[in-house]
Amino acid sequence: MERLQKVMAHAGVASRRKSEDIIKQGRVKVNGSVVRELGVKVSTEDTIEVDGQKINREKKVYVLLNKPSGCITTVNDPRGRNTVLDYIQGIKERIYPVGRLDYDTSGLLLLSNDGDLTYKLTHPSHEIDKIYQVEIPGHPSPGFFKQLEKGVKLEDGLTAPASVQDVIKKGNSTTFILTIHEGRNRQVRRMCSQLDYQVIALKRIGFAFLNLDGVSEGSYRFLSNREVNRLK
Ligand code: URA
Repeated sequence: MERLQKVMAHAGVASRRKSEDIIKQGRVKVNGSVVRELGVKVSTEDTIEVDGQKINREKKVYVLLNKPSGCITTVNDPRGRNTVLDYIQGIKERIYPVGRLDYDTSGLLLLSNDGDLTYKLTHPSHEIDKIYQVEIPGHPSPGFFKQLEKGVKLEDGLTAPASVQDVIKKGNSTTFILTIHEGRNRQVRRMCSQLDYQVIALKRIGFAFLNLDGVSEGSYRFLSNREVNRLK
């Protein structure tokens, strides 16, 4: 048995504090009867409605996967290709990718069954940092990197200001770190391609304050409560 406001908070209705207010306002029904007093405990069998809507009591799960390249960011592929879910075993909740990485892109991908958080994290207005390690052929001039930072005209409009760091020349190629705040489809590849460089390898190494430390390619970990609250 758990306190009603705790169950409401877990289900993503609101924080515990706000859930208490919602209870006091008479907006919550347990098994069809309005409950106004705090401290009521409920079991998994009880039906809870807030403003007439049944709440989803499935446990919220938040996974950080280090996606290998060569798998598709979807829950099932009609063409039978590997999907990101093939790397996540032993989770009974139905989780979905938060945004998307291309088939050939590797790196940090979140998956969750928390629809509200997914919506928030993928909404363009939230401008979450997405940090990519990019490899391109040759050794471009400084003008290329300045243009990436300033904005590149794509068919869906000018890209927002970005930042470039750690440019390293290798034999025949160059790697650099690009931080963008948007999440358009194939954005990094299209930005480079528009400036005449086809991306050789692309890896997302950061999303908001999260990175891939301790998570090897093809493996995953759960986010801590603290991390989840920081994302919210
Ligand atoms: N930009 C891309 O081009 N591809 C990705 O997978 C992510 C960002």
